[in-house]
Amino acid sequence: MQGLMQDRPLDVAAVMRRVEQLFGHKRVVTATVGGEVVATWQQVVARARRLAAALDLLEIPPQARVGTFGWNSQRHVELYLAVPSSGRVLHTLNHRLYAEELVHIVTDAADDVLFVDRSLLPRVWPLIDDFGTVRRVVVMDDGGAEELPSDPRVVGYEELLGRVTEPAPPAVVDERDAASLCYTSGTTGRPKGVLYSHRSIVLHALMLLGVDNFAISERDVVMPIVPMFHVNAWGLPYAAMLAGADLVLPGPAMTPEALLGRMARHRVTFSAAVPTIWRGMEPLLGDADLASLRMIVCGGSAVPDALSRSWQEKAGIPLTNAWGMTETSPVVTCSRLATAHDDLDADARRTLLGTPGPPLPLAEIRIADDDGTGIGELQAAGPTIAAGYFGADPGKSSFTPDGWLRTGDVGTLDQYGYLRIVDRTKDLVKSGGEWISSVALENEIMAHPDVHEAAVIAVADDRWGERPLACVVPAPGRTLDDQDLRDHLAGRVASWWIPEQIWILPEIPKTATGKFSKTALRALAAGRDER
Ligand code: ADP
Repeated sequence: MQGLMQDRPLDVAAVMRRVEQLFGHKRVVTATVGGEVVATWQQVVARARRLAAALDLLEIPPQARVGTFGWNSQRHVELYLAVPSSGRVLHTLNHRLYAEELVHIVTDAADDVLFVDRSLLPRVWPLIDDFGTVRRVVVMDDGGAEELPSDPRVVGYEELLGRVTEPAPPAVVDERDAASLCYTSGTTGRPKGVLYSHRSIVLHALMLLGVDNFAISERDVVMPIVPMFHVNAWGLPYAAMLAGADLVLPGPAMTPEALLGRMARHRVTFSAAVPTIWRGMEPLLGDADLASLRMIVCGGSAVPDALSRSWQEKAGIPLTNAWGMTETSPVVTCSRLATAHDDLDADARRTLLGTPGPPLPLAEIRIADDDGTGIGELQAAGPTIAAGYFGADPGKSSFTPDGWLRTGDVGTLDQYGYLRIVDRTKDLVKSGGEWISSVALENEIMAHPDVHEAAVIAVADDRWGERPLACVVPAPGRTLDDQDLRDHLAGRVASWWIPEQIWILPEIPKTATGKFSKTALRALAAGRDER
């Protein structure tokens, strides 16, 4: 016997109706090259409905992929609404990737049309003839001075909206239909396509609203610093719409000064970014007015404890650790203290809060503890977790026979279900048959007051198989001494973890999403060896 409840789809159109009907007066603020633009949610949704009709004018078939190269902006939000609600698939692209990667991704996704911010045209237009499937390029004028190519494939966003006579009614979609596509950032391998459904997007947005999670509410002013091409800006735009929050979008103004100024000016209450961004702002915290901030989420990479402490001291707010991946929508866990931890002392509570925490409702995690040590591969399952990959590479080895996602991370779970990430499988250092966690070692190195950032990779060693190589960047105006760093580590980590090789570098190379690029460091180390 089936339940007798209404079978209405969990789809993007429902999110759109809600923000329009209840929160039409709330604001979306965008920083553009030419200054700030402010719109109400009502205006944004009205424009999105016209945009859906414009997609019809471009004769984009149902289910076709609509690629975007855009900063965090109002027009990008309009695309987040119009593309899925009209039955097409939104494919957000990271303009910081190498040309070869972009060609691979656009071709694999078979994008039909691209929407490109004018200021990003120099990154995209030179590749246009390599993007075999792309028929049209819609330019979003963000105030950039870049020249518009004189080519029949190019059309302006506003001009296109101007051609629309009637806004389009939402298409009828099944909640399991594809809504958006994002490729993994490829830190450890070739990017693979993750295809979100309407249902997974809506459920993920609801999960973020939970009070033990991000607790996003109508009272919030949400500023996603994480780019809208990085796993749907971690789902924040959709969560902000469901809750009826204001949205502040930093556009291309990504310097620490610009971000801090914007947070202060708009009384931002909630923000999220990778550690590199929070580290960039940290030296400026003394002068910033961040009294409005209630929660700042840090994820995408290991969250350095010293960095979180420094935010707590200087700005009165720690970094909230959250774990996730492109394949998981992305948020799976979020740090918090349960009542079960009431008996912990202040230090233990602080340490626990620094972990990625327990899973959100509806997400399940487990550790593949093959050798009974309690440490093993982290696996995830749930309605917001990928069941396969889109495109040429089905990535079958990423799933267990019972359908759980193999994350490639190594971790532990404690008795209350709190996750700790030991390392990525590929980044562990195997020295003399024992594992060294590169993440734990980096964390301790970054606790040294004169260290700005540090990344540890494995290098081949005749005697031990592998040894850790620490790549360390001094804090501005400081110098670092190898022996001083080793003395600092003594007592903090096992003596055999202490690296013999320490390189002082001007900076750690970063991936296109701002994470430490250990691939680039390994190439650097291999190059030095040959020399
Ligand atoms: P890529 O795997 O190419 O970097 P993702 O952006 O999907 O692309 O990154 C997911 C990975 O980021 C996770 O598998 C994990 O290694 C790392 N990660 C994300 N959040 C955290 C966190 N809070 N702590 C430690 N590592 C994290």
